[in-house]
Amino acid sequence: MPEDEGASASMPAYTAPLRDMRFVLNELAGIERLRALPGCEEMTPELVDPILEAAAALCRDVLFPLNRSGDEEGCSFENGVVRTPRGFPEAYRSFREGGWPALACDTAYGGQGLPRSLALLFEEMMCSANLSFGTYPGLTHGAYSALLQHGAEALKDRYLPKLVSGEWTGTMCLTEPQCGTDLGLIRTRAVPAEDGSHRITGNKIFISAGEHDLADNILHLVLAKLPDAPPGTRGISLFLVPKFLPAGQDGQALGPRNGVVCTALEHKMGIRASATCALSFEAAKGWLVGRPHKGLSAMFTMMNEARLSVGMQGLGLAEVSYQNAVAYAKERLQGRALGGARHPDKPADPIIVHADVRRMLLTMRAQIEGCRALAMLTALEQDVAQRHPDPAERQAADDFVQLMTPIIKAYFTDMGWEATATGMQVLGGHGYIREWGMEQYVRDARIAQIYEGTNGIQALDLVGRKMGAHAGRYLRRFFHPVLAYVEARSEEEAMGEFILPLSRAFGRLQQASAEVARRGMADPFEAGAAATDYLRLFGLTALAYVWARMAEVALRKQAADETGFYRAKLSTARFFMQRILPQTGALSATVMAGGGTLRAFEDAAF
Ligand SMILES: Cc1cc2nc3c(=O)[nH]c(=O)nc-3n(C[C@H](O)[C@H](O)[C@H](O)COP(=O)(O)OP(=O)(O)OC[C@H]3O[C@@H](n4cnc5c(N)ncnc54)[C@H](O)[C@@H]3O)c2cc1C
Repeated sequence: MPEDEGASASMPAYTAPLRDMRFVLNELAGIERLRALPGCEEMTPELVDPILEAAAALCRDVLFPLNRSGDEEGCSFENGVVRTPRGFPEAYRSFREGGWPALACDTAYGGQGLPRSLALLFEEMMCSANLSFGTYPGLTHGAYSALLQHGAEALKDRYLPKLVSGEWTGTMCLTEPQCGTDLGLIRTRAVPAEDGSHRITGNKIFISAGEHDLADNILHLVLAKLPDAPPGTRGISLFLVPKFLPAGQDGQALGPRNGVVCTALEHKMGIRASATCALSFEAAKGWLVGRPHKGLSAMFTMMNEARLSVGMQGLGLAEVSYQNAVAYAKERLQGRALGGARHPDKPADPIIVHADVRRMLLTMRAQIEGCRALAMLTALEQDVAQRHPDPAERQAADDFVQLMTPIIKAYFTDMGWEATATGMQVLGGHGYIREWGMEQYVRDARIAQIYEGTNGIQALDLVGRKMGAHAGRYLRRFFHPVLAYVEARSEEEAMGEFILPLSRAFGRLQQASAEVARRGMADPFEAGAAATDYLRLFGLTALAYVWARMAEVALRKQAADETGFYRAKLSTARFFMQRILPQTGALSATVMAGGGTLRAFEDAAF
């Protein structure tokens, strides 16, 4: 491309946003709170910084360079064997040898015992750098969590060290052709064998990391029904089914191949280097995890964690798209600033001078930084829920995590999709063609709204389960702190521009919550009709709360600000309050309108 067009096609770049990550961890969430938890005493910035920097280097130097080639090449399938794209096995080896799979795992099984708050930042980086790659360790960590919490001691001793070291990977096998959201429709069967194990038979589809060449063995966590299972979701059990059966005295060696084979790979829109497999279980040997018929609740513990991780996928992709959109907007020369040329020496001004381009970039930035802050506050509560010595503190923290889980999963992934599309828009036609790499982020972002429970189902979880749980106890874990925060700052002049919009949005949320609860109690269809808009209203209000808190920190520190970091934080906070948060007005009106129009429309007229 000629020089006077200002930007030439180049591979996208990614630099982990370490400054902002340190801000949310150290200055907003308060690393002291983390350090007060058992096992986290060493979590000083001096310990954390080198870990974040090493994670950033791995993502920049090893994972990101394979993102584009992995997308172009995809996974291949031949005679039951799945191969990941060129460079993936070597990258996985570096990842494993660096000890990254063990980061947030229990030290009893070889883990490093680091808190979730820290692991979450690494997850974000990995999703930015190479989401496809991230699905393999992501599923492994999910399998690790389910086994850790629900597995018998013998199973844990045998399998957890291999998952923690990353030598073996894990999967989560729920979906079947006739059964997606409604797991009560599962047909896979488990028949007890004389040796105490079970024989699993059935077909699973869409299984991420179901077969690949990155690790020696794969541990499938499979939902199936026992012969005496009650119908529906109350009759589902969870089984561990290894690809290769364990051998040797301690069961750590590889024995014969088990009866599970990959029958096909799905061809898909995005995350093309992540192997999405159809698996056939043919009397495969498996072991029960947890109690019979209680598999779904065991799976749910793992899913809560996984849903937060999927939320980070939206955030990570939005971040990498933002970085590349900004770089382009500073280079690309088109048109003149409306108030007169800003760079008269050049044939045109860079597009970053245009109000509409600035709107796009600031929208992305305000959403990204808000989501990162909310993720960090939630991850910290997860650490408190797992580690605090006081059961009441643990309970309160867990309530907050329960409430935020569907919001983070759905809001962040909707945001990821919108932000990556906006990032593409900043590049105009160059964003749409492949050379610049921006369209891959859009394609990769789309799946996060679908898997791990569609976003529609997350919204139903929020209004159906979380809202009314324990007579509104989960809701109070958010409402009370926000109310106290707003009241305590009502006289602070400098905070007025943040507190006023926050309290307006909060009022709308309170009113909508009462209305959805009232109508939903009388008629569940009404709750279903309000769910998605209500979740978005909640997400925006939660972001307003964290933006007010971030602005407060920035106001305190801006006087000594030499880098412009806090000034930019304040400007972004203002943008969020003035240009994004007003959407709560429309959302609350939509929620209040009720579901009458959805119900009245006749099926035959669609
Ligand atoms: C790339 C990829 C990777 C995946 N990885 C895995 C994996 O590793 N393991 C695994 O088990 N599965 C996996 N899945 C499956 C995924 O979790 C499901 O696709 C998802 O849960 C939705 O199920 P479904 O596709 O059958 O859609 P359906 O359940 O048929 O839903 C279709 C639509 O109807 C809506 N809907 C359904 N029921 C309701 C309801 N009660 N109320 C309101 N709306 C409803 C949904 O929101 C959706 O919009 C993967 C899928 C893909 C595409």
